[in-house]
Amino acid sequence: MAQASRSKPGDETQPVRSSSAAPTSPLRRLRHAVWLNVQVWIPDLLAPHLRRRLVQYWGRESRNGTTWSIPLPAECFRCGKKQNLQAIRLKRQLRGFDSPVGLLFTAGIGALVTLALGIFFSTYVWYVASLLFLVVGVGLTWSRSWVDDVELSISTCPDHAAEVEFPELVLYERDLYLFAPTEQLAEAARKELDAQRRRDKRFVHDEPPPAPAVEREPAARRSEGLAPPREPTSRQPPSREPLPPIPLDDPDAEPPAH
Ligand SMILES: [Zn+2]
Repeated sequence: MAQASRSKPGDETQPVRSSSAAPTSPLRRLRHAVWLNVQVWIPDLLAPHLRRRLVQYWGRESRNGTTWSIPLPAECFRCGKKQNLQAIRLKRQLRGFDSPVGLLFTAGIGALVTLALGIFFSTYVWYVASLLFLVVGVGLTWSRSWVDDVELSISTCPDHAAEVEFPELVLYERDLYLFAPTEQLAEAARKELDAQRRRDKRFVHDEPPPAPAVEREPAARRSEGLAPPREPTSRQPPSREPLPPIPLDDPDAEPPAH
C-alpha cells in the first residue's frame, strides 16, 4: 500500500537538520572524539567492532570544495528494510587533522624525558619543560587542522525515523572515515563505493576495511597541495648522469686500418 509520504532517498528529503550521535557531556564528547580520531590515525588500535562498521570515503570523489556529500545506501540505517523509506539529510561541521601522529609522538617523548629529568633532579624547570612539550605538540597539531562541512543522506523506515542521528565521523588527511550504525549498512556502503569506483575505473581495495590511512599515495597527496611533513634536508650528494667512458691512449689497441 503506497503512502503519500513515501519518498526515495535522494529526491524528496527532509529539511537539513543538525544532529549528533556523540555523548551528551562536553568532556565525554571530547574524550570520545579524541579516542576515535586516535584509532583512525593508528589503525592497529581500531577496535574490531568499529573496523567492521567503517566506511572510508576518498576526498577526491566525495569532497567538493570544503563540503563532503555522503549518500548512505537506500536501506533503513537500523533494520535494513528497503521499502517505504524516508531519506533524511543531516549536516554538521567536522575538524580534520593532517599527519598528527609523528608530531604528537615526538612531543610525548620530549614530555616524558623532561618529566623524568624533573623527577631525578627535583627541579621544577624540567616539569615546566615537560608541560611545554605537551602544549606545543597539541598546539601545532591543532594549527594544522581544518574544518569541513559534511552533508549526509541517511534512509530510515517509519519505525526508526525517530532514532536517526549522525554517524560517528573522523576526518583525517584526505579521507573521511564514517562509522555506520550497523555492520550491514557499512557493508552495503562499501559495496556501493566499490561498484562506483569500478565504474569510474578507480583503484578498488581488495583488502577488508579499513584501508591503511597512511601513505596510500604520497606522491598524489603532495600533488594535491597537502603540506607533507617537512623532510630533513638530504645529505646525499645529488645523483649524476653516468659520464661517457673516457678514451684512453691504449698501446695495445689495434692501429686504425689504412
Ligand atoms: Zn528500520
